[in-house]
Amino acid sequence: MRREELIMICTSDIAGQLRGKAVPVRDFEKRRTVGVGWTPTNIMITAHGPIAPSPWGSREDLYLRPVPATAVRLAVDSEGPVQHFVLSDIMQLDGTPWTCCLRDFLKRGLAALEAEGLRLVAAFEHEFALRGVEERPNSPYNFDAFRRQGLFAEVFTAAMREAGLEPDTFMPEYGPSQYEVTMRHAPALTAADRAVVLREVARGVAHRLGLEATFTPLLRPDAVGNGVHLHFSLTEGSGRPVNHDPDGPGGLSPVAGAFLEGVRRKLPSLCALTAASTVSYLRLVPHRWSASYTNVGVRDREAALRICPVFRPGSEETALHFEYRAADAAASPYLVLGAIVWAGLWGVRQKLGPPPLTTADPEQMDERERAALDLRRLPGSLADTLSELEADADLKAAMGETLHRVYLAHKRFEEELMAPLDPAEQCARYLLAY
Ligand code: GLU
Ligand code: MG
Repeated sequence: MRREELIMICTSDIAGQLRGKAVPVRDFEKRRTVGVGWTPTNIMITAHGPIAPSPWGSREDLYLRPVPATAVRLAVDSEGPVQHFVLSDIMQLDGTPWTCCLRDFLKRGLAALEAEGLRLVAAFEHEFALRGVEERPNSPYNFDAFRRQGLFAEVFTAAMREAGLEPDTFMPEYGPSQYEVTMRHAPALTAADRAVVLREVARGVAHRLGLEATFTPLLRPDAVGNGVHLHFSLTEGSGRPVNHDPDGPGGLSPVAGAFLEGVRRKLPSLCALTAASTVSYLRLVPHRWSASYTNVGVRDREAALRICPVFRPGSEETALHFEYRAADAAASPYLVLGAIVWAGLWGVRQKLGPPPLTTADPEQMDERERAALDLRRLPGSLADTLSELEADADLKAAMGETLHRVYLAHKRFEEELMAPLDPAEQCARYLLAY
């Protein structure tokens, strides 16, 4: 068979999907600046196919400008297809970023953070299911479950390495046929790019091996959730971490405390951007080891925000970091990280004091105890968190009026699409998408 290799110029969108257009690789040089044409209404295409009401209709033009450093060439073996893609920025015809480019939403947040003398280092931790691996109840952390995924882990690790993802750990997670993968931390924009790439590399390797990797937030209503846990650390411009102060509550420096408190207070509206499916809210309930209250927990895997352990006593200055657990892969990594950056920045600018810390289960507390710690239950549905986002003037300003408006329209339309379906049917639909 004669073959000619293509490269797909892609964007990670509101639906958490990677979409774009492929060009022959031999034309890529000339596509570097001109990119490929794109349509504003594409951002209204839901994960389930139907298009949400779009203010642009069939009108107007944009282009996807590739970011060559993000290119990934996944050639699992010599017979199989080459899966070659590159991430991009969405540009207007005058060469300025489009207001609804999600990568730009993150970049703008990072620039604003930098203006405060701060940077963020991050790593996305992903849980996913490998369909085609038999579900057995004995599988958590089990070497047998590791063995039964066959060649996947090795081929995936090699592919991650080649894609520059710096593989860290791989494990059979708690759910039958559920696995988890972590990467080394990186500067924030790189970390988000890598999260976009990682999902496609996992899907691509699995596909080639006759398996299916799914990052859907919840396979079935009774399944263990697939979380995306975002680890992050604040540094000053020089790269020196600024998270720790031995005298601060929980060992938090004032700036880390303000950042975390900003994120904590914004959690009810942030969830709209970080847990963006209807089934996400079946996962974000107590005692699923996900997140269910607006709490910062000290070494607690049920906290929405967790102060992670430091494994070598004395290394707090460099090793202390935080984890945001109320995210899943229905959301674009740019939205997840961008939302956290903007919310944390809001806390820093407001000079908020440190967050109240929890060391006990909020679900077991009475109303008075919860009120004393300012703990709110996270929104119980996508509709509820969208109402919070609608009313949040700070996040609206961060997103820009247009992105804020079309995001709400997109996700409300998705909510309407799912409304007639029961939870099991909704999970089945999301499984097809993620
Ligand atoms: N599967 C859990 C979630 O939905 C997380 C379990 C863990 O790694 O702590 O977030
Ligand atoms: Mg896990």
